Amino acid sequence: MPRPLVLSNLTDSRGRPFDAVAAGGRLWLRGYPADGLRRLDAQGGRLLPGLVDHHIHLMATAAARMAVDLSDLAPDSPALGPRLRAAATRGPVRAIGLDGADRLDAAALDRILPDLPLRVQARTGGLWVLNRSALAELGPDLPPAVERGPDGRPTGRIWRGDALLRRAGPPPNLSALGADLARHGLTALTDASVTTDAAQADAIARAGLPQRLTLMSGGALPADPRWQVGPVKLVPDDRDLPSLDAMAAAIAAARAQGRNVAVHCVTHAELALTLAALATAGSLPGDRIEHGALIGADALPVIAGLGLTVVANPGFVLARGDRWLDQVDRADRPDLCRLSSLIAAGIPLLAGSDAPYGPVNPWEIIRAACTRQTAAGASLGRSEALAPEAALALHLPPGGPDPAHGAPADLVILRLDARMGADPDPVAHTLIGGTPVYSRAAPAHPAPVPGVPA
Ligand SMILES: [Zn+2]
Repeated sequence: MPRPLVLSNLTDSRGRPFDAVAAGGRLWLRGYPADGLRRLDAQGGRLLPGLVDHHIHLMATAAARMAVDLSDLAPDSPALGPRLRAAATRGPVRAIGLDGADRLDAAALDRILPDLPLRVQARTGGLWVLNRSALAELGPDLPPAVERGPDGRPTGRIWRGDALLRRAGPPPNLSALGADLARHGLTALTDASVTTDAAQADAIARAGLPQRLTLMSGGALPADPRWQVGPVKLVPDDRDLPSLDAMAAAIAAARAQGRNVAVHCVTHAELALTLAALATAGSLPGDRIEHGALIGADALPVIAGLGLTVVANPGFVLARGDRWLDQVDRADRPDLCRLSSLIAAGIPLLAGSDAPYGPVNPWEIIRAACTRQTAAGASLGRSEALAPEAALALHLPPGGPDPAHGAPADLVILRLDARMGADPDPVAHTLIGGTPVYSRAAPAHPAPVPGVPA
């Protein structure tokens, strides 16, 4: 347990000054003797509960930080081959973010890089394309997830094959990611990966992230003090939707484990099936719609009636908004990434980054929720914009914007001059369980001085 720490010169959501003590992993707003304790001067900065990313993919995000970014290219861009070959000077290549990756196959990737393993992930994350060398790494008996052409040979395309691909290659390093997330004020993370199993959960828990973890999974997940077992993740895939009976059975199987469900819904069809299945199997408080990228107005009272929480990705307005404006039917545009209309319909709303598929910084997500501006500066669904405090609330644990007496000392102190809803980097200090894990004034890992042994 860390030593007690006095937090002085704080302000609350209404600008009122106060002091507090973090002790025993809890926040004390009164009654804790402060004499002789260590002090952290907040310099008038606002105290917040630690932020929560309610939907992230940790392993994929850590891996993406080491991958080649192709998000500005198309499969037929002349720059594609040179960029991948340049990365190959450092060894096998993983590339991510390519729109239209399904137009590639193993033969096309072999023409770019014949001798080293090359894997290219589609922007949506659901598809990998491998060259022959990368396919060979999977071993002689290719599993059914590997697509085959009419001639029976593997095309190189693997749909939703993350668990399969994880077996090849070393696990990504999560500790640098955890430090970055602490810098953004994130103290709790919900990993939404359907592929998480006991071994993967153990790998995540051992990786040295300072944040508290909630883990979803497709199948069973053991209880463990290092993580909270989250909802069962269900992914009805629009290309091959399961039957209503199969979805209802999957929900019943989650109930048999005593768990909520969190259902991936990015199309009208996926949402309609999910709502019908939850109406059939019965919904519970805590059941979640993930993404809710397209929600029709007629679905709002149904979602509210079933008591479902929507976990939206406002950062997608920034990351995908321009493509949406280009590709999504004009009639569907009011349904894209709803925020304020969900709150108005009485639907509990939370936010997740869905990193690596959206921006990981919650302050960029909050800004996108407030401005509804795309990366190119276009406006997308301006009427769905939230006020800054409402956008912040999507990232907070239950209980409001001012940490209560006795609450866990998972805390964020903002800079005095931080501008909520506009500032991408407003955090001065982050504490988890009363332990400072990030401090702007005194970096946790100062750069070594050349010639001086550490
Ligand atoms: Zn996701």
